[in-house]
Amino acid sequence: MNHTEPKVSATIDLLADGKHHGHLIIPHSRNDSGWGAVHLPIVSIRNGAGQTMLLTGGNHGDEYEGPIALMKLARTLEAGGIKGQVIIIPALNYPAVLNGSRLSPIDGVNMNRAFPGRRDGSVSLMIAHFVHEKILPLADVVLDIHSGGKTMMFSPFACYHRIPDAEVMERAKQAMLAFGAPISLELVELDAEGMLDTEVEEMGKIFVGCEIGGGGTSTPETVLITEIGVRNLLAHFEIIDEKPISCEDRGLPPTRLMHMPDSDCYLISNDAGIYETLIDLDESVKKGDAVGQVHFLEKLERQPVVYCAGRDGTLIGRTHKTLVGIGDFLGMIATEM
Ligand SMILES: [Zn+2]
Repeated sequence: MNHTEPKVSATIDLLADGKHHGHLIIPHSRNDSGWGAVHLPIVSIRNGAGQTMLLTGGNHGDEYEGPIALMKLARTLEAGGIKGQVIIIPALNYPAVLNGSRLSPIDGVNMNRAFPGRRDGSVSLMIAHFVHEKILPLADVVLDIHSGGKTMMFSPFACYHRIPDAEVMERAKQAMLAFGAPISLELVELDAEGMLDTEVEEMGKIFVGCEIGGGGTSTPETVLITEIGVRNLLAHFEIIDEKPISCEDRGLPPTRLMHMPDSDCYLISNDAGIYETLIDLDESVKKGDAVGQVHFLEKLERQPVVYCAGRDGTLIGRTHKTLVGIGDFLGMIATEM
């Protein structure tokens, strides 16, 4: 037995020229299928020399702009129309996407905390391991498409992270700007360990992320932002020969370059109750402004607890759910760079 190679296999050759639809086969022996497996869809489109881009959606199973935009791209992009390679995985956590849940129903794992994975781990860990061992080494750039899912809502942004390698960081920043989202954000993560983002960056490759909308649905606008962003990124890396479409080209204000100077940008609940949003996304706030308040249904005499902005800026993310608990995300404030 080879105990170093992934237990996951691909039905297509990721090094072959041409367009190939196939699956990653993840062994999944279970009560209702003794010798069963999960078949996770993947498309590889390759045409000679050039940059290789990995496009992933459905890292969380209740975020839909990525899967929709990438399924459409997988149907329409042909090898003759590109230079280099595009690897498309519309549903990275495929069992979670089929279940409409953030986490996998098989093992309860958050795919974006599962990297670099384990060859003999649960289904999510085996997927992460294969991506880490067999796909990331091929990629020059990775775009992982997220939105808020059922519990969060974001003002659409593309993002990059501050990383030690200034040259790679600058290239990631330029790629993020090329995406052309309404907001371009230098993002501070609350919990970066185990993320696909972190693994890509530690390999010295370019990572671009995005949070396009949320609420466990999509809108025509959030899907359009995603589709334009994907094509803009393919054009930026000269994989397709197209003129990028900027916000201004669409008659919108130019992308707002923003950042999150410290953890004061996040509002986290210290209470369990019913959350009332007092200001909406894209509104400006001053430090100390009330952003929302938690009400207590079981103690009607009790005043609600007001949550205030920790700094001046713009509210670009908020909870979508109303029934909040201690430790839940309530909001996120970014400032112009
Ligand atoms: Zn997500």
